[in-house]
Amino acid sequence: MLTFIVGESELARRIRAYPWDDTELGALETWPESLKTLVSVMLAANQPMYTVWGPRQLLLYNDQYVSVLQGHHPSALGRPFLEVWSEIADDLEPLVKNAYAGIPSYTDDILLVLERSGHTEETHFAYSYTPVFNATGVVDGFFCPCIETTEQVKAAHLIRESEERQAFLLGLGDALRPLVDPAQIKSVATRLLGEQLAVNRAFYADAEAGHWLVSRGYEHGVAALPDQPFDMPEYGDWIIDGFLAGQRLVVNDMAADLRFDTSERDAHFALQIGAEVALPLVKNDQLVSMLVVHSASARNWSEKDLALLEEVAERTWAAVERARAESAVREGDRRKDEFLAVLSHELRNGLAPLVYDARIGTRSANLQEMAAVFARMDVQLGHVVRLVDDLLDVARITAGKIELVSELLRPREVVTLAIEACRAEIEACGHVLTVIDQTDTELLVYGDRVRLTQVVTNLLSNATKYTAEGGNITVRLARDEEDAVIEVADDGIGIPEAALPRVFDLFSQVRTQQSNAAGGLGIGLALVRDLVGMHGGTAAAFSAGPGQGSTFSVRLPVATHLSTSAAETTPADVNVPKNRLHILVVDDLRDAADSLSELLRLDGDEVSVAYSGEEALREVRRRPPDLVLLDLGLPGIDGFEVSRGLQRIFADGRRPQIIALTGWGQAQDRQRSQEAGFDGHLTKPPRQEDLRSVVASARSRKALRDGATS
Ligand code: ADP
Repeated sequence: MLTFIVGESELARRIRAYPWDDTELGALETWPESLKTLVSVMLAANQPMYTVWGPRQLLLYNDQYVSVLQGHHPSALGRPFLEVWSEIADDLEPLVKNAYAGIPSYTDDILLVLERSGHTEETHFAYSYTPVFNATGVVDGFFCPCIETTEQVKAAHLIRESEERQAFLLGLGDALRPLVDPAQIKSVATRLLGEQLAVNRAFYADAEAGHWLVSRGYEHGVAALPDQPFDMPEYGDWIIDGFLAGQRLVVNDMAADLRFDTSERDAHFALQIGAEVALPLVKNDQLVSMLVVHSASARNWSEKDLALLEEVAERTWAAVERARAESAVREGDRRKDEFLAVLSHELRNGLAPLVYDARIGTRSANLQEMAAVFARMDVQLGHVVRLVDDLLDVARITAGKIELVSELLRPREVVTLAIEACRAEIEACGHVLTVIDQTDTELLVYGDRVRLTQVVTNLLSNATKYTAEGGNITVRLARDEEDAVIEVADDGIGIPEAALPRVFDLFSQVRTQQSNAAGGLGIGLALVRDLVGMHGGTAAAFSAGPGQGSTFSVRLPVATHLSTSAAETTPADVNVPKNRLHILVVDDLRDAADSLSELLRLDGDEVSVAYSGEEALREVRRRPPDLVLLDLGLPGIDGFEVSRGLQRIFADGRRPQIIALTGWGQAQDRQRSQEAGFDGHLTKPPRQEDLRSVVASARSRKALRDGATS
């Protein structure tokens, strides 16, 4: 009776048909009850099971075990167990021996690489070997049910991996947090990454001036890369284009990667690169840097490897940017402190002689001595006023509160006004000033005369300060395509290359022994850059190095859209034949009004004074002026009211130019004066060049008017 062979499964049929007579197990009917029972249990079960029986350890199994046996089936049936599994016999033999010695065993995870539905797969099984004793207490064989645990093992593996990854990233964060130096951040990050991925190199390469500047990171078991900037000729256009599009480069096996030609592959082999990954960092469409890992031999980079790389790259850049921002703040603080120190020094130095001179003035009765005292006071006051003005301008620009009063100008006019303002300074230093004008008369820009004059004045004043006595300063005016170019060159102390990119920064000063003595506040060039920028232009600095002189150039867009007739009606050059102006100064502070009129009269103009709004309107009706310098805070009718009165009186359009001259310089004050019809707004005391510019502009208007009516 073969009733123990249940069912019609494949193994039921095979066991039934097998020539057992030829084996030590003998005919099926003669099998011991224990074996028969095991066979019937196996065939009825729905999990892989097998039985190993007899001194020769012959194998019997069920259908479910076929997938484990793979190619060994069907020949495995009835064959010695360790022969069937010859490839892992060394591992299995001790277990089999134990089972035959009556010792059961349990293995919770055996890795088997199985061929399943066409591809190889790592599978995991748990087994138990249970010895089967006969009546005499001898082991006849053992029984083994198997449970596949692949899914559980994979899940546990994933959890472990994700925990490891989290731990690694946390460790990376902890390691990077205290670092303040971007280079050190990159170096620590690449070392940790290199160890984690078990690669041979991990490093950052920054794109600088067409080269890759490698920051040495992690190197293990390979030669060090050069730490000088070096070209990477093996990176062809396709890689760079990919980088620019934000794509990473992944090479699993350099030897077999046909995207590279032979020479490119050789260049990689020379650096022991068998496989690599490079992640680009693109900022503002520029390839800034890349994170690179090398493996000396081929390596199939897994998705996990690549994901970790991306994560590390991201975190490292965040840390680098954080460090840069912090260092910029520290640098800003440092410069501000230095600035305050220099500012107080400059103010004290400017005020001291004023105090002395004022004291002399109160005690001296000698007129000649008084004139000398006042001349000195004027120079020193000019210096202090200019410091305060520069400071206020910076504050206004920073707050976005400077408004340009633009008109069509010849750059030449601006240069002439600036030279005027600096002439005394230049002469005092014995410099030779040369002006080369390569522009034609039609070259016009649209800009604020006062502000552009301030720009050129700052450049000229720097050239004067930073050039040893008896130097040469050259101002060149030219047109370059759609730009008007104003260039101020000197043969002075020059600027070191490293300092050039920062000279236009606020409070930036190049510290050299020579420049220390002359240095100002580090505001002038920041104003130049900002004011030129507000005009849609650019400012640049060039120097071949210390002792080689410097050249500063300002480019302003040419006003091309304006017709020639507009050009003709622009104010002419400052050298226009002099037209005597009638100027009205209005101020309730009599001293201020009187001294300003005296100053204006020095240029040969006719100046009247009014000490109140009512008086001003009366005076204007009596004799219309060309220019009114009008204080705002007047008792009775205030300056705004006077301005509106002037608009009414001169409703025919031939009204004088009205300029507010006031201690109030806030944006809202300027806004109010503009609304009340003022043509300009000067703060007290006005700069020499601003006052000149206002007068020059009124003079040009008068010249044009007189020309038009004659
Ligand atoms: P400062 O008030 O210090 O002159 P600026 O902003 O005008 O400030 O200039 C910034 C720095 O640039 C100066 O301190 C000086 O070191 C450098 N510099 C400016 N102009 C020149 C020049 N013509 N030659 C050499 N160095 C210059």
